[in-house]
Amino acid sequence: MIAKVEPLTPARALRGPFDYLLAGSLEDVGVGSMLVVPFGRRRLLGVVVDVTDRSELPPERLVEPLAALEADVPQSLVRLGLWVAREYVSTPARGLALVLPPGTGTGAARPLRPKRSLRASMTAAGEAALAVGERVPDATGGGTWADGAPPRVRLGPRQRAALDALAGGPLGAAALARRAGCDHSTLRSLERRGLVSLESAAEPARRPRVEGVGARTGRVTLTEAQRRAAQTVEARLDSGSGRPLLLHGVTGSGKTEVYLRAVAAALRRGRSAIVLVPEIALTPQTAGRFVDRFGDAVAVMHSRLSRRERYDEWWRMRRGEARVCVGPRSAIFAPFPDLGLIVVDEEHDGSYKQEGDPRYDARTVAERRAAVEGALLLAGSATPRPESVLRYDCITLPGRVDGRRLPPVEIVGMLGVNGAFHERTREALDEVRRRGEKAIVLLNRRGWSNFLSCRSCGRVWECPNCDVTLVLHRSAGEVACHHCGHSEPIPAACGHCGSVSVARHGTGTEQLEGELEALVSPLPVFRLDSDVAAAAGVGAVLRRFDEAPAGVLVGTQMVAKGHDFPAVTLGVVLDADATLRFPDFRAEERTFALVAQLAGRSGRGELGGRVIVQALEPDARALRHASAHDADGFLAGELARREALSYPPHGHLVRVVCSSTETGPEMDAAEAVRVLVAAAGVPVLGPAPLFRRQGRHRAQLLIRSRDRAAAIAAVSDAVESVAGDRAHGAATFAVDVDPQ
Ligand code: ADP
Ligand code: ZN
Ligand code: ZN
Repeated sequence: MIAKVEPLTPARALRGPFDYLLAGSLEDVGVGSMLVVPFGRRRLLGVVVDVTDRSELPPERLVEPLAALEADVPQSLVRLGLWVAREYVSTPARGLALVLPPGTGTGAARPLRPKRSLRASMTAAGEAALAVGERVPDATGGGTWADGAPPRVRLGPRQRAALDALAGGPLGAAALARRAGCDHSTLRSLERRGLVSLESAAEPARRPRVEGVGARTGRVTLTEAQRRAAQTVEARLDSGSGRPLLLHGVTGSGKTEVYLRAVAAALRRGRSAIVLVPEIALTPQTAGRFVDRFGDAVAVMHSRLSRRERYDEWWRMRRGEARVCVGPRSAIFAPFPDLGLIVVDEEHDGSYKQEGDPRYDARTVAERRAAVEGALLLAGSATPRPESVLRYDCITLPGRVDGRRLPPVEIVGMLGVNGAFHERTREALDEVRRRGEKAIVLLNRRGWSNFLSCRSCGRVWECPNCDVTLVLHRSAGEVACHHCGHSEPIPAACGHCGSVSVARHGTGTEQLEGELEALVSPLPVFRLDSDVAAAAGVGAVLRRFDEAPAGVLVGTQMVAKGHDFPAVTLGVVLDADATLRFPDFRAEERTFALVAQLAGRSGRGELGGRVIVQALEPDARALRHASAHDADGFLAGELARREALSYPPHGHLVRVVCSSTETGPEMDAAEAVRVLVAAAGVPVLGPAPLFRRQGRHRAQLLIRSRDRAAAIAAVSDAVESVAGDRAHGAATFAVDVDPQ
């Protein structure tokens, strides 16, 4: 038999698969097996992607693999990894690395192996020796026994202690060391003498600890809407019918309970389930709910696990001990051979897109995996993507579980306002202080970079070439464009209206925090941003906020993500329309989601709640719909706009960025790619220079096409050809399909 092996090296140039001859003990190697293979004078790790009985190579050139590793990946996942490589214009090795046990892919220092330990049990000879040994040896230790009988077996004190301990039944090496003080060499010598038998056993996996935050547990009786949703899911599980389901439920409508029932239903049918949750913030809370419900059947994957813990969880799933995987985007590659359900929680969340190569979108991969493996895809959100609304079958949860109304949303205009807070916001925060309640304050991160606006006419200083806001560089005394590099001195007056009153926004989170502390003192202020997240962990901050009787949680986008804190009575969004000032076709969608999601955090308890949204342009479409809780109206408008412009879901975008350390090669390479893509009949924009990043000059091409497959194929061929051309050796290439 011939194994087709894809070597796991990051080099774009080295593309398999290569043929190896399977013989002897390796004959039962199959698709998904990992092999160590000789490659020239090197040895490489590779994955079997196919097994056939024919090879193009003459028999004398076929060599055998050196060894097989104990890491069989389900076949369907090997195919999925290769599909990701093609769909996202990456290499097979990088695609396969996604589906291998954690720590075995490209670039891993040394693959982890399952930890093995020795397990000892006593043989019949051992029992006999122990019985004989009960006689007392000669005190002189001279080798004769007190009663003169010749010793058939002589035992040292450690050996005797070991056998004594084993008289009660087999034990692991570690336990024996504790009880009898014997080490591995003692055991090995007992084994050589036939007194014990040793076998290696995989160590039980280490289970990471999961802490729930703000999760209210306990069984609940489903609302009518939840019950209908759960029924639809069950029916789909049984019919195996193709289209994904979209659970569109307002914040607080009890979507998680529907996911829990869906997972239970899949398990009852003997199938496994994957639950995708957004990166970091939500993982502890959601994972906690699933662990509460399904116990050890849940494997949790999150970013704070050690390599070893990830690896152990992978094996628990592979062995079928865990049947549910909860985790961020990479959990889509959970090694279940019998997948029945994929849940995508908060499906609008941007963290489902991977930043590094391959730049896959876990939601698209989920669609693919569900379709190929006959599993049901259930995506849920209060603010679903236009893509999903158009293509999935929709189930709605129209109201909150407690029947409470969504909180009223007030938009306040910030034109001419001094300081970070509007008068109305100050009053509302003061009320929270007086009543000893809780508030969440959201800083729109994108807007939190520094920029200038005119206090009289509201004009924002923008780049003349790029339609983006110029960023203030105080120390250099200028404003600059982060797209094209255009810069100009900080203006003294507005070019529109001549006013000399220019507002500098984004004075920094520290100052904001100071103002906030002064407003709500003595209530505590909890800060949640990426610095804090890296240091203390999001979970720790959220837990402190949850446990405090009163206080304010302030931070970037993270604070708006699905947490459930009943005591929050006020939500505030600062600079809500900052997102709209960026050249991004998703700007409207992001702005709408931001406000709607934050509104969802407020008023979950008996005290009710409200939301204040601060914006420079209070009339923006996304804000108007969000304040009316009108997701359907917003989505309808958004889909019409996208249709007109051929934006997703009606068209598809592919971005190619070429870069080099010297200026020049990046442009030449981009131009070469453009020529090839255009020759394939696919429309392409650019090359456009990008601002230098990390010392590299960059040029970008943008492909927008209604034919996804054709666009991907054209880009893939073009990049492969240009990257393989020595004339462009100084350039590197990054391809982003469906850029976010
Ligand atoms: P969503 O994800 O839709 O925002 P959650 O699933 O977080 O909503 O549910 C909000 C709260 O309501 C949670 O505390 C949850 O335990 C509770 N809950 C869910 N379903 C019910 C129900 N049928 N009856 C009572 N409480 C429920
Ligand atoms: Zn002006
Ligand atoms: Zn510019």
